[in-house]
Amino acid sequence: MTTPRVEIDLGKIQANARYLVRRLGTHGLSVTGVTKAVCGHPDIAGAMVDGGVAGLADARIKNVVRMRTAGIACPISMIRAPLLNEMEDVVEHCDASYNTEMDTILKLGAAAKKQGTSHKVILMVEMGDMREGILPENLKPFAARVIATAGVALKGIAANFACLSDLAPTAGDMAMLARLADQVEGDCGPVVVHVSGGGSANLQWVLGEGSTGRVNNLRLGEAILLGTDPVTGHPIAGLHTDAFALFAEVIETSRKPSLLPTRSIGSELRVLKLVRNDDRRARTILAVGQQDTDASGLTFPSGMAFIGATSDHIVIDTVESGLPVGSEMRIGMNYSALMRAMSAPDVAKTVHGRQKTNGIANDRKTHPSLTLV
Ligand SMILES: *Cc1c(COP(=O)(O)O)cnc(C)c1O
Repeated sequence: MTTPRVEIDLGKIQANARYLVRRLGTHGLSVTGVTKAVCGHPDIAGAMVDGGVAGLADARIKNVVRMRTAGIACPISMIRAPLLNEMEDVVEHCDASYNTEMDTILKLGAAAKKQGTSHKVILMVEMGDMREGILPENLKPFAARVIATAGVALKGIAANFACLSDLAPTAGDMAMLARLADQVEGDCGPVVVHVSGGGSANLQWVLGEGSTGRVNNLRLGEAILLGTDPVTGHPIAGLHTDAFALFAEVIETSRKPSLLPTRSIGSELRVLKLVRNDDRRARTILAVGQQDTDASGLTFPSGMAFIGATSDHIVIDTVESGLPVGSEMRIGMNYSALMRAMSAPDVAKTVHGRQKTNGIANDRKTHPSLTLV
């Protein structure tokens, strides 16, 4: 089979989604499945839907259109604010979008009116991640303006954590989000239906001891796809961590003197300097590189160590014996490596398990299909 390729186990993704939907359901929270790391791959989105998520979310309209074209019919929201030239598409294809700017919301409203519809708006509140968000003290007047805007309907508020910063939210943050929802409603009536507490970084809080209060939704990407906690990188109990694997082919295997990394010459390139010593190590070169994935986010089979990567090569220390040229190595990926591999045109995507094509569930076990995206 072609390499490099990502192999995708839809059954494990569905099982992860189902587990999280059930666990969060007992706390009164719904799950939105986040598809941005897999570029809205329709089979993966379909596996999340089969797992029971209440809806999907993506950061790019292109990915949303990809899912809609493949027949994914559930509610989809934009978790990144829409761009000026995509208002029409966002209104047409998305049920809701997360927003922080009045100008954008006015344009969404105008586009929705033109299409004879109303677009739902969720206001992202800044709670310490310092990426996008309306400052808490400005939220009430902001919400009042949204409510007064034709063509849009205020659906809820949301917070975001551990994206730009690596700070996980605290119970205090969540209590504040709930208070903000109360405040908005105090002025504007019962309009805050959706209170979305963040992404996978917030699972520990939801599944912990305390009450989840008014927070009734999480937007989960990494936990469903990789079964890991974005803050610690650790596996989350009960979830599959091997739904994805990267396969790369060995193109050289030899014993060479140890290499010592010396100085950095900017970007991601590293100079490797030959050092005289008798300790000849078995080294394997894989035909995959920084153009295909984030090499620093890969996990190699046990006993193998990452030495370095360039745009098209990854060098591995295989200690005992090298791998035969032409053989394949199975490699684990973190979120960043997965995201890059899923969006890299030269990385094939091979799907195993139940696939949805144009929205029609396909029950028979399919052979792996190869899609170059
Ligand atoms: C990426 C993203 C998520 C999902 O984050 P995970 O850590 O993958 O669960 C949720 N909300 C927003 C706004 C995002 O950008």
